[in-house]
Amino acid sequence: MAWRIVIAGGGFGGLYAARELERVLPPQAARITLVNDVNFMLYTPLLPGAAAGTLEPRHVVVPLREELERTELLVGGVAGADLDDRWLHVDTLEGHSERLRFDHLIVALGSVSRTLPIPGLVEHAIGFKTLAEAITLRNHLIRCLEMAESLEDPAEREKYLTFVFVGGGYAGVEGLAELQDFAADIIELYPHCRLQGTRFLLVEASDRIMREISADLADFTRRELMGRGIEFRLGTTVEEVGADHVRLATGETMPTRTVVWTAGVRPHPAVATLGLPLERGRIKVDATLKVEGRDNVWAIGDAAAVPDPAQKGRAPTPPTAQHALRQGKRVGQNVAATIGNGRVRPFTYKTLGVFVDLGRFQAVASTLGIKWRGFPAWFLARSYHLFAMPGFRRQLRLVTDWTVDLMFPRDASELAQLGHPAPLDEGELEAQSAGGTPAEDRPVPPDLRLTAEHEAVPVEGAGSPRESAAEE
Ligand SMILES: Cc1cc2nc3c(=O)[nH]c(=O)nc-3n(C[C@H](O)[C@H](O)[C@H](O)COP(=O)(O)OP(=O)(O)OC[C@H]3O[C@@H](n4cnc5c(N)ncnc54)[C@H](O)[C@@H]3O)c2cc1C
Repeated sequence: MAWRIVIAGGGFGGLYAARELERVLPPQAARITLVNDVNFMLYTPLLPGAAAGTLEPRHVVVPLREELERTELLVGGVAGADLDDRWLHVDTLEGHSERLRFDHLIVALGSVSRTLPIPGLVEHAIGFKTLAEAITLRNHLIRCLEMAESLEDPAEREKYLTFVFVGGGYAGVEGLAELQDFAADIIELYPHCRLQGTRFLLVEASDRIMREISADLADFTRRELMGRGIEFRLGTTVEEVGADHVRLATGETMPTRTVVWTAGVRPHPAVATLGLPLERGRIKVDATLKVEGRDNVWAIGDAAAVPDPAQKGRAPTPPTAQHALRQGKRVGQNVAATIGNGRVRPFTYKTLGVFVDLGRFQAVASTLGIKWRGFPAWFLARSYHLFAMPGFRRQLRLVTDWTVDLMFPRDASELAQLGHPAPLDEGELEAQSAGGTPAEDRPVPPDLRLTAEHEAVPVEGAGSPRESAAEE
């Protein structure tokens, strides 16, 4: 009988775990199922490029069905587990609940933006973690320019031309740099806005940005961005976010209609539904990636507190793709070793380097103790991500996008309507609304709000449950 291996989450950790299992296990030995809430893996290091329009959104994702050879993909939301009886509960895309039987379960559910109880934050800010958020941000920036262009009052216009990022980790810094670069590229098309100019700010609670890299590289980054006119507010926090302003702990209030929240991550809420031991929300695992107190449940990536070999196990590994994908490979080997009565091995990877792409041929990098900055770092960063992107065709698409971006100005079309077509009978709706249909009954465009992405939502009206074991 084939072993049943279920992987919950198909991001960096889950995809690489599945690929490793396919590589090391003979085809008949195991039935591998990967559960993910979308049918692709998001290559997050390229998300800022997608937000800034240098990369096509479809070119920063990896379709899971293309990448996996004999792993079954089930698109749905992990909603809980019965660990003693070895079932994983999944709410399928189609709308019914399903139970998947497993002999080994690998949890790789990743993380979501970590929010704080700041008045107005959830209502008015946007995260920078998902493809939807990145593309919403791009469209929102263009829409702000369009609105500012139509206004006469410079004070009103300022609200639309000020963009505030909160959180100075690499995701925030890269997002800010790329978005500012994008705005600088297209502002020529907006005569009023060009005269007034845009304002980009970064707010960071600690006294320096990017703790992931050395202080001198972080300082170089800050100076580079200040040279582009980006302002920094270090050592202060956001106290309140409103529809048209943000207030800092220093008392400073900035008029703005855009607050981007990039102040850290926390494990995906679905992790808490599994009944596993947690450490600050992350699943407690040992050095072999096995969950404490369980001999057939494993956890990796942002969702797991894996003892960091670089810190002699005293702290968990940082939430990075480079750790998640290597943990995916190691867990694949360890599950295969457990099945075959082989030796499981600890996770020993120590960070080899970090790249921070700042756009405009600028980046900073630290690789194997060597520090890079400027154009060489930018070239290294792009080359690294090019080779790290799975699949030759996708690599070719990246090269094409980057080349086109070098040769032509960026596109300023605002495509927020994509995916939100007006209903077929809109004309009739309009007529009704003229006759008094309440505005709230009409379709509304997507809002700029910080959402808990992929929050496990109970499936209502679910069809009859199907149990995968029954099929076997
Ligand atoms: C903007 C940005 C830039 C980044 N840049 C870098 C970088 O340059 N280098 C680097 O090393 N790291 C980078 N990171 C961090 C990196 O993306 C994460 O550390 C990495 O993705 C973690 O991998 P993971 O497998 O744990 O989670 P993920 O890759 O997030 O995968 C989790 C998967 O689980 C799915 N999922 C979640 N909940 C459910 C559910 N209930 N049911 C089913 N499926 C579910 C998700 O949709 C996702 O596909 C960046 C992150 C961001 C946001």
